[in-house]
Amino acid sequence: MGEVTEVRPVGGIDYPCTLGEFFTFFPDETACHRYLEQLRWPNRFICPGCGGISNQAWRTSRHLLLCPKCRRQVSATAGTVFEGTRKPLRLWYHAIWELTSQKYGANALGLQRALGLGSYVTAWAWLHKLRRAMVRPGRDRLFGPAEVDESYVGGEEVGVHGRQTIKKAIVVIAVEMKRHGFGRIRLRHVPDVTGDSLTSFVTDVVQPGAVVQTDGWNGYAKLQSLGFEHEVTVLQNLSDPAHVHMPGVHRVAALLKRWLLGTLQGGISKEHLPYYLDEFTFRFNRRTSRARGLLFYRLINQAVQTEHTSTHELFAKTITKAIPSHVKLGGAK
Ligand SMILES: [Zn+2]
Repeated sequence: MGEVTEVRPVGGIDYPCTLGEFFTFFPDETACHRYLEQLRWPNRFICPGCGGISNQAWRTSRHLLLCPKCRRQVSATAGTVFEGTRKPLRLWYHAIWELTSQKYGANALGLQRALGLGSYVTAWAWLHKLRRAMVRPGRDRLFGPAEVDESYVGGEEVGVHGRQTIKKAIVVIAVEMKRHGFGRIRLRHVPDVTGDSLTSFVTDVVQPGAVVQTDGWNGYAKLQSLGFEHEVTVLQNLSDPAHVHMPGVHRVAALLKRWLLGTLQGGISKEHLPYYLDEFTFRFNRRTSRARGLLFYRLINQAVQTEHTSTHELFAKTITKAIPSHVKLGGAK
């Protein structure tokens, strides 16, 4: 019995909406390569070698395109997250499907099992490569009104209060406030809570002129002079708990901490924290999207626009704590 494939075009390109459709969409490597080619060159083929624009390129038997102008053989994976991979593209797409179809994401062990990968390191490296594609380059700024505050993530520390922190990572959070709930969020791992760190975050992620709500910390003191409508809530002077006056950041900080603990079981290094924040942002900002297929499409489309990071480079940044000690490094592609 054949399955009916319902397709929904996005900018002229379709995407699967269920796992059944996924297998119909991508029956083999050829289908996967053609999908990638469509995403990279939706209108005409532009040769990365000579820059020549052609209405068509010849396809070779090894999934390469032959530029009709300079006769160079070009892989659609070059310059994308998939560059240089020795594994089938279909397996990569399946990994993206796994990552986007689960509400809370995937950890390396779960991905290894779902895909039947022989190596934990491969699953771990793939997740890290895909996280790097989760933030769209040049994305929009929040319109406001936006709540901004810092939160501290990481292990519990006894005797460290307020803004003093030694081992914990500081994450500054901006939440767009809507009449009925929360809009989009932006997160950043900052080295400290100085005016420079906090102000540059706000100017990068919030639209100039917007209302920005913060507490009375002097790290935010320059926002008014930088063109924001700065509203200060001095929490010490209020009898209500903090979350009543900053419900957005309070809620997002709680969800973030729970997600880091639950999905990643606390196994994060500060070097990789920015990418976990990207994944959390990607999921949070699309939390109301019912179409899981659309998330798949967004991530695969962004993966095409994201430069490849070598596995070696990923490990160079890793504190070994994030990887179980029995895992041998190397060989993941
Ligand atoms: Zn060329």
